[in-house]
Amino acid sequence: MRKKALVLFSGGQDSTTCLAWALSNFEYVETVGFDYRQRHRVELDCRGEVLAALKGGFPGWAHRLGEDRVIDLGLINDISDTGLTSDIEIEMQANGLPNTFVPGRNIMFITVAGAIAYRRGIKHLVGGMCETDFSGYPDCRDDTLKALQVTLNLGMDSRAVIHTPLMWIDKAGTWRLAQDLGGTVLVDLIIEATHTCYLGNRSRRYEWGYGCGECPACQLRAHGWAQYRLVRETQAPADVTVAANVAADRDILGDYLGGSRVSCR
Ligand code: ZN
Repeated sequence: MRKKALVLFSGGQDSTTCLAWALSNFEYVETVGFDYRQRHRVELDCRGEVLAALKGGFPGWAHRLGEDRVIDLGLINDISDTGLTSDIEIEMQANGLPNTFVPGRNIMFITVAGAIAYRRGIKHLVGGMCETDFSGYPDCRDDTLKALQVTLNLGMDSRAVIHTPLMWIDKAGTWRLAQDLGGTVLVDLIIEATHTCYLGNRSRRYEWGYGCGECPACQLRAHGWAQYRLVRETQAPADVTVAANVAADRDILGDYLGGSRVSCR
């Protein structure tokens, strides 16, 4: 088992699954979150609840959890005008990206995490970026993350490794990975304690967790949950459904944004 990892942990479904993955693969795991005055800032409140639940419910992982920190990156809000940082309608932009894309966000996250890892003597960074994500955010692509790894190592004369366990799986696969890592207890924890909704809504409880149920993030989480449940109940081979799920995820965003379609590349 490898030694130390630093997980970019937002309090959402994806990063919680990545944290579980890190706790299964590393002897010691620290976490970092970022407060960029995001519209769904409630996700930061969920972080503590998730960490406490992991410590309380998973004895095999609890002793591996190390320091947690939240870094103030409010400057991202200062320099952005996006659907995630301002109270504006979520819509498609002329460049083919939804306005929930926050330019430079993940680049800053990885850079700051890399600096913390350097100071803490941690070689491995873990993030929930995903290229099969519906939106095609360019800073979630595998090539971007590989380039950032090279940049970090050149700029800090280090040998950091960036791990992205969700890069090539869809939302149903993320639920399935949680089941494989921590069983029903972890899946239930993700439902109850993590936050996904872009609008920060935690007033309505669905089978898949809390949210408005209507924004693209909620719809994707719900769709992934439905596909995961279908495969689990029918015992169908998981890989049969992945391509169909990704296509359906893109349709969800397209429908939400009024018929426009997006691609991952
Ligand atoms: Zn929502």
